Amino acid sequence: MTDAKADYDVIIIGGGATGLAAALYSARAMQKTLILEKIACGGQILITDVIENYPGFPDGVTGPELAQLYEKQAVKAGAEVKYEMVESLRTDQTPKVVVTSDGQYTAKAVIIATGGEHNKLGVPGEETYAGKGVSYCATCDGNFFRNQPVAVVGGGDSAVQEALYLTQMTNKVTLIHRRDQLRASRILQERAFASPKLEFKWNTMVEEVRGNGLMESLLLKDVNTGDPSVFHVPGLFVFIGFHPNTQFLHNGSIRLDGGGHVITNIRMETNVPGIFAAGDVRAQSDRQLGSAVGDGITAALSAYHYITGE
Ligand code: NAP
Repeated sequence: MTDAKADYDVIIIGGGATGLAAALYSARAMQKTLILEKIACGGQILITDVIENYPGFPDGVTGPELAQLYEKQAVKAGAEVKYEMVESLRTDQTPKVVVTSDGQYTAKAVIIATGGEHNKLGVPGEETYAGKGVSYCATCDGNFFRNQPVAVVGGGDSAVQEALYLTQMTNKVTLIHRRDQLRASRILQERAFASPKLEFKWNTMVEEVRGNGLMESLLLKDVNTGDPSVFHVPGLFVFIGFHPNTQFLHNGSIRLDGGGHVITNIRMETNVPGIFAAGDVRAQSDRQLGSAVGDGITAALSAYHYITGE
């Protein structure tokens, strides 16, 4: 049990599905709860068209709709939301201090729920043509390529799911993958192979994005032969994985794994008492919406036990 005076009982860093679920449970447990979010609540589901694998929605639900419901429910329960960028976390004192772009707040317990972001290819032209042909969000930008061909790079669930989505409005989708096998789940693979609008370029890497004001083509390389080729296409959607948002923790005492994810136990406790991490930011996360919500709830319950000693 912690008796320290603090601005809040619980501060949750990140207002995605995990953070909002944690906030709901924390506020309902009568803990004074603050969510710190840098732009808009909702996180990754804000840029997800239809979610088909979240229990309770047999016909699917749109990401933005679900995000709005999560936020409404957390705020109705009493959680407060502030839009500020978190810059660091001081864990060596009680209460904990969360430093933001606008000031600082103290809390008896802190839940890190900052999720992560899509990886970039890091090839020449990618940055130049970002927003001018190169995109990381099919639901945001797919309609710019109505009845045109597009390319998708990646072979995981995201690449295949988004490629399938893009077949709805474009006239052809070419999925470029560096190996000859997809990493995506079997059900998505079956749908992808059955789609007449989806083609595959196997064993192929994107080496450069080229254009003239707008993206026009990709320089590709066959990974087996090393042969280069030019592929004319006005749009490239990049889905090659994800990295956790833990930059603000890099010089602190919270233990991270080699990929920068926060290491927790199954109670979402980090190595520092009173600091918890939940959702995609933590090591061994299943990176699913349902499990991220579950993580958030577990973290809120653990924070409650830490604060009250009950
Ligand atoms: P992921 O599973 O890590 O897949 C990343 C893909 O990008 C892999 O195919 C990888 O190739 C490729 N790749 C990585 N770096 C590359 C590079 N520099 N150049 C070219 N290709 C590169 O990532 P994800 O698809 O974003 O999915 C992340 C997690 O979210 C997964 O656990 C996934 O199951 C989950 N997810 C689930 C759903 C769903 O349930 N519907 C939807 C989206 C995501 P290799 O295969 O050769 O390594």
